Amino acid sequence: TALLEIKGLHAEIAGGRKIIQGLDLTVNKGEIHAIMGPNGAGKSTLSYVLAGKPGYEITAGEVYLNGEDLLAMSADERAAKGVFLAFQYPMEIPGVATLTFLRAAFNAQRKARGEAELSSPDLIKRVREIAKTLNIDADMLKRPLNVGFSGGEKKRNETLQMALLQPSLCVLDETDSGLDIDALKVVANGVNALRSAERGMIVITHYQRLLDYIVPDIVHVFAAGRIVRTGGKDLARELEATGYAQYQSEAA
Ligand code: ADP
Ligand code: MG
Ligand code: MG
Repeated sequence: TALLEIKGLHAEIAGGRKIIQGLDLTVNKGEIHAIMGPNGAGKSTLSYVLAGKPGYEITAGEVYLNGEDLLAMSADERAAKGVFLAFQYPMEIPGVATLTFLRAAFNAQRKARGEAELSSPDLIKRVREIAKTLNIDADMLKRPLNVGFSGGEKKRNETLQMALLQPSLCVLDETDSGLDIDALKVVANGVNALRSAERGMIVITHYQRLLDYIVPDIVHVFAAGRIVRTGGKDLARELEATGYAQYQSEAA
């Protein structure tokens, strides 16, 4: 069944620049969709629009999560409903220890769902267990969120958040950027561990390489604000050979 349905979506950056221009996409439960496309096509914008980040105006179209109107929900409501965005550029928060942030995010989600908070020892135990599987050092959890983290540490930390929050829809925006091959494998294993029949994922990437490790069910080419081609996982390999130029000119 459909987890996410995007119909005829148009969105612009506050100030009037049109970025998403007629996007249709359905992600069923259990599916991993890759979205590939050139720089500046609007891939990150799409992820922000789904997460409910302020600063974007939806000028047309509809988005449903499990049949509910996603666009009518605040960013917090979307998070409570299980929408998770792993950022292309994770935010640095100097005043907040990573573990404190994780606890706040986890308990906010619980509260929004009307569930009891997890006790601190239980939460710390859970975080440590996940951290171990992602080769995240316990010391890193005490450091301010993302401050001075390497590219790989930031992406592993995003994966940790995702594993802790158990989202229904995971959007991964260029999770491979800044990762060496070992970190890429660790992150991909973490993501693959979250594959389930109930969950959907959108993996945004420029490069085919990530998709050797996180194997998508469906691959889309995104150019000039909409999906211009859809195929199976072989499409990613084809794109690696042909590049995006043909799609950019077609879309324009
Ligand atoms: P992608 O992730 O596909 O590389 P983005 O969604 O980041 O593309 O950006 C789409 C377009 O919107 C780009 O041309 C980018 O320069 C522009 N853009 C993104 N954010 C802003 C902003 N806050 N103000 C103005 N233009 C922006
Ligand atoms: Mg980009
Ligand atoms: Mg981007």
